[in-house]
Amino acid sequence: MDLTKYIRNIENFPKAGVHFKDITPLLGDSEAVASCVEQLVVLIGDKKIDKVAAIESRGFFFGTLLAQKLNAGFVPIRKPGKLPYKTRKEPYQLEYGLDALEIHEDAIKKGERVLLHDDVLATGGTARAACNLIEQLGGEIVQCNFLLELEFLKGINKLRSHPVQSLLKF
Ligand code: IMP
Repeated sequence: MDLTKYIRNIENFPKAGVHFKDITPLLGDSEAVASCVEQLVVLIGDKKIDKVAAIESRGFFFGTLLAQKLNAGFVPIRKPGKLPYKTRKEPYQLEYGLDALEIHEDAIKKGERVLLHDDVLATGGTARAACNLIEQLGGEIVQCNFLLELEFLKGINKLRSHPVQSLLKF
């Protein structure tokens, strides 16, 4: 199934000049969601995955479904102050200013094989910070996978040491 038609373009969101890719039409169609999960699993091939780590918040939608399909655990990577237990924190650069992500310090065991998932790869700063957290805990990143990659922003360059797969490229 071609999922492109389920991605809606929103101009000037969340601010002027940004062309936002909206995945909610996809989420609203159960056949499209099922096909999307199957297609993401194909990107992973026969690699063994212990944990699927996904980034708040849109990464959670398919991250949990993928974890179930792969018989893997699910690990949420969240914005600061949201996780209740002891955390590791990784700051990263936004276009203007700094942001950060956190992970529970016991979420991944040393040597576990981790799939990082998020909805969109844009400049790559968010995914890079998430990879740093996974590696701080001793996880081995098997693949970074995304629903969409905005290729012109070259986010893949920030992740070059890791295999990157995206379902749709714009
Ligand atoms: P990056 O750090 O510039 O790669 O931005 C990636 C993060 O921003 C991801 O967590 C996405 O959820 C979000 N993001 C960036 N652009 C879009 C978009 O067009 N649609 C949905 N999310 C986006």
